[in-house]
Amino acid sequence: MLKIYNTMTREKEVFNPLEEGIVKIYTCGQTVYDDVHIGNAKTYSSWDVIIRYLRYKGYKVLHVQNFTDVGHLTDDADQGEDKIEKRARERKINPWELVDNQIEEYWHVIDDLNINRPNISPRATSLIPEMIDIIKILLEKGYAYEVESNVYYDVSKFKDYTKLSKLKLDEESAKARVDQDPLKKSPFDFALWLNAKKGDQMHIMRWNSPWGEGYPGWHLECSVMSMKYLGETIDIHCGGIDHIPTHHPNEIAQAEAATGKKFVRTWMHAEFITLNGKKMSKSLGNYVTARELIDQHGGLVVRMGLVPGHYRSAVDWNPDVIANAKKNVERIQNSLSLIKDSPGGTKTNLNQAIEEVQKSFEEAMDDDFNTPKAFATIHDFIKQINSSLDNKKDILNKAREVLVELLGVLGLDFTKKKGIDDAKIDGLMELIISLRDKSRKEKNYELSDEIREKLRSTGIQIEDTEDGPRWKMS
Ligand code: AMP
Ligand code: ZN
Repeated sequence: MLKIYNTMTREKEVFNPLEEGIVKIYTCGQTVYDDVHIGNAKTYSSWDVIIRYLRYKGYKVLHVQNFTDVGHLTDDADQGEDKIEKRARERKINPWELVDNQIEEYWHVIDDLNINRPNISPRATSLIPEMIDIIKILLEKGYAYEVESNVYYDVSKFKDYTKLSKLKLDEESAKARVDQDPLKKSPFDFALWLNAKKGDQMHIMRWNSPWGEGYPGWHLECSVMSMKYLGETIDIHCGGIDHIPTHHPNEIAQAEAATGKKFVRTWMHAEFITLNGKKMSKSLGNYVTARELIDQHGGLVVRMGLVPGHYRSAVDWNPDVIANAKKNVERIQNSLSLIKDSPGGTKTNLNQAIEEVQKSFEEAMDDDFNTPKAFATIHDFIKQINSSLDNKKDILNKAREVLVELLGVLGLDFTKKKGIDDAKIDGLMELIISLRDKSRKEKNYELSDEIREKLRSTGIQIEDTEDGPRWKMS
């Protein structure tokens, strides 16, 4: 029986999807103006583990995760600048180019970390007509108001606006903010549509609407993308804990006011990665990118650094995290090699350990995806394997299969040889080719031919082209 902690009720609840056997899940995605930092990656990796486990349990999972490519402002009070337009201006490029580049880079990171891609990854800008339709409904129903070509959501109209955040809306202290939007009736109201013209600046990413040229608000985007691809009520909606006070309450207010139905059945929120105790964040500038860590240590080690922590526990990023991850990867690789190299014996006691590890792994994961416990059971299993190499070879092979499968549920792919990913292979090939080049320049043809032949015997061909040597698998 799977139990999930629902932020809405602040309790662990037995999970049953609305439609038998199918789980519809929406995860709030990246605002694509900067690189994925290791905090973002931890959150995406947590959702990936959860989805993998649901699939392991036999559910069909439909997962949607958006790209926010417009409308996320630098200031939560709708007074700031669009993060994407600001960064594009700083880099002196078109915002659309920035978005394209960031999304491409995002996928490289996600793939290197072995995070499964969602079934659907919509860009917010692909659903502008649908967003305009929802705003029209909210205006008709009296939940929204227009001022100077901006449209705002009137929070006072939505009963139970704070049901997720459990916060008391303190109007006085909110009003004390210097950078308040003077067009709003209340500081808690939020923008559904923003006028493209602000002062003498024109927003580059803009669309026609009944309220003039403009662009949608960030909160509206998620409600619309979730409803478009998953339906008006979904099973699970995920995000970081930073979304509990505002972003998710706003999503609920928009969706439920528009449809009159419950928007989300289970809310899940991931804790932060911190750096020296402070939230790692792009806007604060205190972050480590996932890319630099992957290039330095490989995707498997970085992913290993993210997996053993629980999604509701904060992690302070420090050198020990990677050092421990390396040790864990080596321990597992060592055990897999021991199994491979063992001729096997006559014992059969490992059979029981195989049954037990599956049971305790599932027990741990059924308890709100308790990955630290699940990981500990895998460790115990490895110890048992290492001291049971005299078991029959088919039992050892079965143990290997189960070990690899359970690690796979945690997003750790040990089927790749020694965890070497494509980026590392490219790097190694560059090194080998440059050594061959050097030996040729030094007229050491014996060595350069030997390198070429050795590579050929492993199925790699070097071709000398006008642009220099290239390699390919033959
Ligand atoms: P953003 O950085 O706003 O594009 O956020 C993308 C996702 O990463 C959201 O679900 C955030 O809640 C999450 N996130 C942002 N910063 C952190 C952090 N330091 N640790 C964990 N998750 C984070
Ligand atoms: Zn969202």
